[in-house]
Amino acid sequence: MIGLMQDRPLSLPHVFHRAEMLFADKEIVTATASGERRSAYGECFERVRGLAAALDRLGVPAEARVGTFCSNTQTHLELYFAVPCSGRVLHTINIRLFPDQLAFVVADAQDDVVFVDRALLPTLWQVADRMPSVHHIVVIDDGSNEAVPDDPRVVDYETLLAGGPPHSGRFVIDDENSAAALCYTSGTTGDPKGVLYSHRSMMLHSLTSLAADVLAIGERDRVQPVVPMFHVNAWGLPYTSVLAGANLVLPGTQTAPGELLAQIERHRVTISAGVPTIWMGALPLLHEHDLSSLRMVLCGGAAVPQSLSEGWRAAIGLPITQAWGMTETSPICTVGVLRGADNELDDEERARLRATQGRPVPLFDLRLVNPETGAEQPWDGVSAGELQAAGPWIASGYLNGSGADGFTEDGWLRTGDIATVDPGGYLNLVDRTKDLVKSGGEWISSVTLENHIMGHPAVAEAAVVAKPDPRWSERPVAFVVPRDGARLTMDEVLAHLRPLVPKWWLPDDVHFVDALPKTGTGKFAKRVLRARLDAIVPE
Ligand code: ADP
Repeated sequence: MIGLMQDRPLSLPHVFHRAEMLFADKEIVTATASGERRSAYGECFERVRGLAAALDRLGVPAEARVGTFCSNTQTHLELYFAVPCSGRVLHTINIRLFPDQLAFVVADAQDDVVFVDRALLPTLWQVADRMPSVHHIVVIDDGSNEAVPDDPRVVDYETLLAGGPPHSGRFVIDDENSAAALCYTSGTTGDPKGVLYSHRSMMLHSLTSLAADVLAIGERDRVQPVVPMFHVNAWGLPYTSVLAGANLVLPGTQTAPGELLAQIERHRVTISAGVPTIWMGALPLLHEHDLSSLRMVLCGGAAVPQSLSEGWRAAIGLPITQAWGMTETSPICTVGVLRGADNELDDEERARLRATQGRPVPLFDLRLVNPETGAEQPWDGVSAGELQAAGPWIASGYLNGSGADGFTEDGWLRTGDIATVDPGGYLNLVDRTKDLVKSGGEWISSVTLENHIMGHPAVAEAAVVAKPDPRWSERPVAFVVPRDGARLTMDEVLAHLRPLVPKWWLPDDVHFVDALPKTGTGKFAKRVLRARLDAIVPE
């Protein structure tokens, strides 16, 4: 028997039209080099309608991929709505890709048109001759004075918008499973792979983010997505915020820690979200700002060391809320909102739980599978296995059929993360499969070692990688960045670790460096570190 309920598509036009009716007076602020741009939702949405009509006039076909090469700005938000609501697919391109990867993703996506911030034009232009599918390059004037090449493909954004009347009436997406957006994995394991989100997946992900024990985003919030809008749709926050009617505070190019904290203070931001390196950089500056408006600092993309979260708690009374996800998972799947009963625990225990990746959100299913035996592991907080993911906003495959080995026969996503889950449902990531140090047939978690080393007061950052070893097959080696002016020796690092980890986990070497290489998404570039290790000649 089929239920007798209306079968209406879950689609982004609903988010747009609802906000148009209910939240026209809510605000979008974008930080710029010379100050800031402020618009009401209503004004921004009129431009969304203008942009949708302009895409028609440009002849961009239905379902065409529309690339964006932009910072977190209001114009990027206009693209976030005009492109999918008008039946095209928003391809947010990572502005930190190397030229070869950039040319690869544009070709793989077959982008028809690319929108680019003027300040980023020189970076995009490096591959201007290697984008045969791109018919138009639309330049967004962001106040920068980068030269605009004389090229028949180049169009000015404002000229485009002014070229005709805006789209009138409602946007309609008939099939909720049609593609809405495309984002590429960062390519840490080979060529980047395209993850194609649907209207339905984005709606369900946004709705779940609103839930009280997830992010609890509401109309009273002022949300600052620091995580780039080209990185998994800024964790869905632009859509979630507009669905809720929350004000948006967009950092644009003003992303230095001091600038971000100043924005939080000026606009009384209630929730901010970014990767650990951002919040580590902000830690020494917290006391310079009034951050009393903040109720949540969301952090994910890499492990959040307990010392970082506790550092925030000590400085402003608010610990960091950790979340886990990946490009393939839209991304939010687990969030470190503590259970009621766990709030009664002592400080130390709560800090330990907050250093986990948190608990699964509604509609998300996870399981742990032993990579060798294929057996499902119990949730006992000890048994580790590969984390596999299922749910309505988890990828079922990659664009153009790449990476089929990333999925199990029964359709679950293989995340490549090794994890435990405790009886309370808290996920604890041990490592990524490829970053684990396999020593003498046992695993050493590089993440655990890093977190402990970063707990030393004289350490700013630390990354641990495996070094090939004839006897043990692999041994851990640490790269450590001392805090400004601090002096530190290998013996001090090892003495700090000794009470915290088994003896055989102690790194064989500790290299002190001025900075750690990072990937385009701000994570430690372990591939670069491993290569560097090969180049270090033993003394
Ligand atoms: P990639 O780094 O491969 O490009 P993503 O940017 O999508 O992929 O990141 C996904 C990966 O980032 C996860 O598989 C996991 O290893 C790591 N990650 C994300 N959130 C966390 C977290 N809170 N703690 C530890 N690792 C995390």
